[in-house]
Amino acid sequence: MTSAPAEPAAASLSKSELQAQIVPGLQAHLPPDAVLWTAEDTVPYECDGLTAYRERPLAVVLPETEAQVQAVLKACHARGIPVVARGAGTGLSGGAMPHALGVTLSLARFNRILKIDPLARTATVQCGVRNLAISEAAAPHGLYYAPDPSSQIACTIGGNVAENSGGVHCLKYGLTLHNVLRVRGFTAAGEPVEFGSEALDAAGLDLLAVLVGSEGMLAVATEVTVRLVPRPQLARCIMASFDDVRRAGDAVAAVIAAGIIPAGLEMMDKPMTAAVEDFVHAGYDLAAEAILLCESDGTPQEVQEEIGRMEAVLRACGATAITVSADEAERLRFWSGRKNAFPASGRISPDYMCMDSTIPRARLADILLAIQGMEKKYGLRCANVFHAGDGNLHPLILFDANDPDQLRRCELFGADILETSVAMGGTVTGEHGVGVEKLNSMCVQFSPEERAQMLGVKHAFDERGLLNPGKVIPTLQRCAEYGKMLVRGGRLAHPELPRF
Ligand SMILES: Cc1cc2nc3c(=O)[nH]c(=O)nc-3n(C[C@H](O)[C@H](O)[C@H](O)COP(=O)(O)OP(=O)(O)OC[C@H]3O[C@@H](n4cnc5c(N)ncnc54)[C@H](O)[C@@H]3O)c2cc1C
Repeated sequence: MTSAPAEPAAASLSKSELQAQIVPGLQAHLPPDAVLWTAEDTVPYECDGLTAYRERPLAVVLPETEAQVQAVLKACHARGIPVVARGAGTGLSGGAMPHALGVTLSLARFNRILKIDPLARTATVQCGVRNLAISEAAAPHGLYYAPDPSSQIACTIGGNVAENSGGVHCLKYGLTLHNVLRVRGFTAAGEPVEFGSEALDAAGLDLLAVLVGSEGMLAVATEVTVRLVPRPQLARCIMASFDDVRRAGDAVAAVIAAGIIPAGLEMMDKPMTAAVEDFVHAGYDLAAEAILLCESDGTPQEVQEEIGRMEAVLRACGATAITVSADEAERLRFWSGRKNAFPASGRISPDYMCMDSTIPRARLADILLAIQGMEKKYGLRCANVFHAGDGNLHPLILFDANDPDQLRRCELFGADILETSVAMGGTVTGEHGVGVEKLNSMCVQFSPEERAQMLGVKHAFDERGLLNPGKVIPTLQRCAEYGKMLVRGGRLAHPELPRF
């Protein structure tokens, strides 16, 4: 796939020597305002949404054409310099955190919608187009792009592809993977590649499925074709209150077990509804220990029938109050609370770290109760919001990053949640990716053989390991180091976890 590479320069030169070498090499291919390298100019790029970890790159480039992207990749490849692709930087696992000896390749200027095809129900867009902008462009045709991360106002489709992002409607409509048909881009060596096709299926191995969720480690995407779906005639949302988290968790499992696939099925615990209500006044029941939001969409008849069935299940599971949105304004108000859960947490704590594990739906209450125990163990508060229908948790651990001890306790708390999720039959990430954040927990979920297979795939695409290195797949040495810290499944008091 790649030509024989020159020896990596990054191994032997200092940061300033590398910078002096690469900056003119990049300027030769890009307009003057598209290469940033001073501390002042690169500081805004030093982290993504996981702000506890920061790094400054050698340079940030902002290409506008595919030829420029290719030239940047070739220039870096020839010098053995790592490249980290960046969309909007809303990622929550440090995926777009720069490499200290690398170049950050921002795709922010790839922001054009190339084609909306209402007959084929597809949209072809550049990778820096915002998720919500696709639905806005498709709206005149009665269509929209279904995966809707809560960051959809800002995050890019390129970032969504790299993270296989989800959202509240993915339970019914699928994740990014299920809604992307074709991705075009470049390898680390700057060779053009295309995965998938606009047909229903593509011949050969399904490399599109390998690329989606690969966190910028296999290729840089420049253009994406997505599937559009018809906007439903009607949507209504139930808000159900519970006086006990176990009953709320069991109700989620019962709705799915009744053969219903809601358009969205979300859960928030009491600390989260309190934070959100104060911020957006969504009308949430503040007396409830947990609330569920259950949405139905379709024709008016379908919605009426499904809402009735869901209400019956929720009542049978012990809901203490049920409110069905009376109109579109009320439905949007219910969701505005859920969609603002992260910013609302930012108002009650200097920092928060958002975890993202999954568990089998039937264990929702168990994990919530386990997290309550961890709050005491690590001396930190945690507010919880779940894509409950998918069994995808988002515990937000509240802490102050300026206090090193709080940061360390927060990291341990997070690792405990992820590994408890694995012990309950779940995974360390649902939709936010591994990035740098979950590297240690990957050692717990995957065996050395499984990690070697992942490294083999990485090597097949990127022989020299230049695309987003040091992320997603932990090294053997790191896992050995991490393994020593576990004492019979418990943890040593406040150890320094292996860092990147
Ligand atoms: C308030 C808030 C709410 C959120 N809600 C959700 C949610 O509901 N569901 C969800 O899934 N996520 C959510 N996220 C996380 C985040 O928005 C998603 O992961 C999103 O897909 C990241 O897109 P981005 O453009 O910001 O990518 P970035 O953060 O810039 O990058 C993310 C990763 O993608 C890679 N990448 C970016 N562009 C490209 C490209 N063109 N080619 C190759 N690799 C690339 C980067 O190297 C990095 O590894 C939320 C984040 C915030 C801050």
